[in-house]
Amino acid sequence: MKITDIISGRTPCLSFEVFPPKSSTAYESVTSATAEIASLHPGYMSVTYGAGGTTDRYTADLAERILELGVTPLAHLSCISATEDSLSATLSDLKARGIENILALRGDLPEGAVANGPYKYASDLARRISREGGFCIGGACYPEGHPESPDGYRDIEMLKVKVDAGVSFLTTQMFFDNNIIYNFMYRLMRAGVTVPVVPGIMPVTNAKQIKRIVSISGGALPQKFIRLIDRYGDDPDSMRQAGIAYATSQIIDLYANGFNAVHVYSMNKPEVARSIAENLSSIIK
Ligand code: FAD
Repeated sequence: MKITDIISGRTPCLSFEVFPPKSSTAYESVTSATAEIASLHPGYMSVTYGAGGTTDRYTADLAERILELGVTPLAHLSCISATEDSLSATLSDLKARGIENILALRGDLPEGAVANGPYKYASDLARRISREGGFCIGGACYPEGHPESPDGYRDIEMLKVKVDAGVSFLTTQMFFDNNIIYNFMYRLMRAGVTVPVVPGIMPVTNAKQIKRIVSISGGALPQKFIRLIDRYGDDPDSMRQAGIAYATSQIIDLYANGFNAVHVYSMNKPEVARSIAENLSSIIK
């Protein structure tokens, strides 16, 4: 099923994310976490893609497994190190496996690597996938601005290029203050970007995640969230409970303010996905 059809339904949609293992040894544990998350019957499940194509095969394998488990998969695909031949092969492979949804991404190169491929931006990839036909294409967006963008206006101009290239829905980078996305939606509307936007929510369940989050969000974390980490960061059980409660309250607020679909960065943690789904059981039915 196409994700645009799933997220335009009348019932609020909750989706989860898994990431593939870096090596075959960890594959079993990732597939079992994937199956547990799929048993929660999310609207769809996304599978990330290793920068530089390092987990290329596992992304397709996991997406196919999700499909077998009765959940619609969204396979991420990055283009920064792709060639015309590698992309043709990947798209044919995804099609043969029955995967209909792709999140078209530029990706970031691993440290020290050099970009020399023909696909420079996610919009180039979206255009190529559109030409292939048969896929529902999503793209990433950044309510706080992409780190390389000179300003938010330029970022939204480039987002419009990506949508015009064939992207039919957007998933946001994580954020911890819902006002940021309400403001972003207003700016999208003014720029004429009208495709559905799926907010991405990260339940922060341990203090170790904070460093990465600070780098992604540029350090602009709301006081409410900072206080939560100050208070519970040293106690793993309390931090987990508080992080899940914080994410749940963000999601409820998003549904209440008109978003029909929310994506959870569940990071291969079935217990986190389950807690969120249980907290929302009457809302998402
Ligand atoms: P683009 O849309 O290409 O944008 C990148 C930058 O270039 C932006 O600053 C944009 O404003 C600018 N730009 C775009 N088009 C043009 C143009 N024509 N001319 C000039 N400037 C332009 N990474 C992975 O490696 N694997 C994943 O699975 C993965 N999943 C993600 C999922 C989500 C929801 C998000 C938000 C990010 C994900 N990422 C993933 C990270 C992503 O690859 C990086 O953030 C990357 O830096 C940008 O990718 P993009 O697709 O947003 O790039």
